[in-house]
Amino acid sequence: MEAFRQVLIVEDSPTQALRLQAVLESLGYGVHHAANGQKALEVLEKTFCPVVITDWVMPEMDGLTFCRAVRSRPYPGYVYVILLTARDTLNDIVAGLEAGADDYLVKPVHPSELAARLKTARRILQLEATLKKRTEEVARLSVTDPLTQLYNRRYFNEQLPKLLQAGRRHQRPVSLIMTDIDHFKKINDTYGHQTGDHVLQAFAAQIQGSLRAGLDWAARFGGEEFIVVLPETDVERAGIVAERLRLLVAQTAVPSAKGPVRITASFGVSGTASGAEWEISMEVLVAAADAALYRAKENGRNRTEIENLSLSVQEPASPMMASMMS
Ligand code: GH3
Ligand code: MG
Ligand code: MG
Ligand code: MG
Repeated sequence: MEAFRQVLIVEDSPTQALRLQAVLESLGYGVHHAANGQKALEVLEKTFCPVVITDWVMPEMDGLTFCRAVRSRPYPGYVYVILLTARDTLNDIVAGLEAGADDYLVKPVHPSELAARLKTARRILQLEATLKKRTEEVARLSVTDPLTQLYNRRYFNEQLPKLLQAGRRHQRPVSLIMTDIDHFKKINDTYGHQTGDHVLQAFAAQIQGSLRAGLDWAARFGGEEFIVVLPETDVERAGIVAERLRLLVAQTAVPSAKGPVRITASFGVSGTASGAEWEISMEVLVAAADAALYRAKENGRNRTEIENLSLSVQEPASPMMASMMS
């Protein structure tokens, strides 16, 4: 348990701070110092310390106010706070713990007790860090497709409405590309399911590789069907992206244990024209991409079809309306 060895001492008495620092250093801790609560908050902003040992009575900001401030702020990890004070009544102890301290020690503290208390601190911090990591991992897994590592449909369903809301607010287009591998059943039948999986992974990687990092994202929509979300992108631009991806897929054989596998895919694009006003729900946008994809299949596969929704939504203003508005 070598982590969590940075301790911040918050103590207004220089002699007491130095004495405590000597003890901590002999126990193998790295020590930072602040002369009061306010200064300690400033130190924590710059140098995160997982363990804080704070005095109670200090000028400017006392230890209890400091505890409450620490609990109300977001830090990169849990801050374990030990109150170390000469105040020793039952009321003091209760007040200290209620302000947010994790432990309460009365001065003077014996070095061996301090060592044991700090070990407890590190154990709690380790537990918290492990729990946090697992929670993050579970959250990531819950939105990730295990085969391709792209987002899954749950993520798509959660995120697209938010994106559309933001896009509508700023009147920026959002486009979709829906794509489905052509005759994929034949790939499975010819090369086996395992190679089929491998082809799906390669296809997903090609999709991922063709996106603008940090802006566009892709999700696995169904078996061999994927969807790409392109914020800030009009439908024409999305059509170009789809065509580029289509050509890449058609031109690149997927290496496999059974030899190179060639695939093609069909693409359906939906969205609005640049600058067009729009008010489109996720359902309408997805249905339009799906309809375009269906057309691409109908029209021979290995092709891109586009559904421009702004044409059907935007009515050109009539001459009378135009004159009324001018
Ligand atoms: P089309 O060109 O009309 O899209 O024909 P298709 O054969 O690709 O379409 P269809 O939807 O009939 O078949 C899709 C196949 O994809 C059927 C299913 O077994 C296969 N599939 C779905 N998910 C997976 C998967 O995770 N791994 C593998 N290997 N195959 C999958
Ligand atoms: Mg003091
Ligand atoms: Mg297919
Ligand atoms: Mg399909």
